[in-house]
Amino acid sequence: MRARSEDPVSSHQLLDRWGRSAADLRLSVTDRCNLRCSYCLPEDATTWIPRQDLLTPRELGRLTQIALSLGIRKVRLTGGEPLLRPDLAEIIRQINQAFSEANLPADIALTTNAIGLSSQLKSLIEAGLSRINISLDTLNPHRYYALAKRDRFPEVSAALNKLPDSGLSPIKLNSVILDQQSLEEIPDLVRFSLRRGFQWRAIEFMPIGPLGDSAASRPHARDILDRLREYFSLTPIETDPAAPARRWNVAANSDHPAGIIGVIASESAPFCATCDRTRLSADGKVYSCLFSLSFVDLLAPLRQGASNEELAKLWLDAQAAKPAGHTEIAVGRRTYSLSQIGG
Ligand code: SAM
Repeated sequence: MRARSEDPVSSHQLLDRWGRSAADLRLSVTDRCNLRCSYCLPEDATTWIPRQDLLTPRELGRLTQIALSLGIRKVRLTGGEPLLRPDLAEIIRQINQAFSEANLPADIALTTNAIGLSSQLKSLIEAGLSRINISLDTLNPHRYYALAKRDRFPEVSAALNKLPDSGLSPIKLNSVILDQQSLEEIPDLVRFSLRRGFQWRAIEFMPIGPLGDSAASRPHARDILDRLREYFSLTPIETDPAAPARRWNVAANSDHPAGIIGVIASESAPFCATCDRTRLSADGKVYSCLFSLSFVDLLAPLRQGASNEELAKLWLDAQAAKPAGHTEIAVGRRTYSLSQIGG
């Protein structure tokens, strides 16, 4: 494999034929997970990316270098569960180095279920981690077990108690609103987050994964907002059009401090028209959209000695074919899960 900085890098932008350019790279670092949330990764999941096909830290650094030359300005590590990669700190270090070689401020975020985070937090921050999103659908240990099929709530709780002193900002707690029970738990999740200085975000269920067909019957953003307004005093925040979440300031009261909450209405108010994302799976496949049925493989050319310019050209072609929106590819939607492509 060629050294990262040997080749010239492209000066093109990752533009699609609808005029959107990508600035946000979602890097999946593994398709494996230590939870088995029934809506994401069922208990009987058995097919994993072979370990030798996972991008190495060095390869991830090189691909980030190329992505930065194509206009990417934010990198989010996801999976599967990224903390399962024993070399996650090294991955972050390599990505951080790519930012610094490109003279760009590093913006490296992690999406995680927080299992094992307590012991890794310091080394991840030292490696260059800037921001973190924790996925947690419930604060009730019994419901946690019922949803995730693993008894790991105490570890998550330990990490959540450590995070406020970590220096990371913002810290977001994301909860998928699955059903009536999720709606009922919203006030507790919001208070819990505000008391720790976290931004809480409700995520509308998307029609992807093993239970994808049930999306239409699950709560929508309007149900979530109704519930929020019953309990909290909300003032809308002017939002960046490319941002997936609509956001509100929550006023303080005797029970909690003021803070920010968001609702991600991917289904009832899709933000495809301003989507600025490109995705790379843990085995080096570019997906221009979470719902894409097609991908462009970078792993084989990367390992066969392709130059940065050749890899950039492949990425540009993949992104050019980005569909206008989810609805365009609604027929024959993927049945596999976010954990496989990177949520
Ligand atoms: N393991 C990491 C985590 O838990 O954050 C990263 C990957 S996980 C696939 C990312 C997020 O996708 C989680 O918050 C999960 O709840 C969410 N997710 C999975 N399937 C979903 C669906 N059908 N609709 C909405 N969110 C989903």
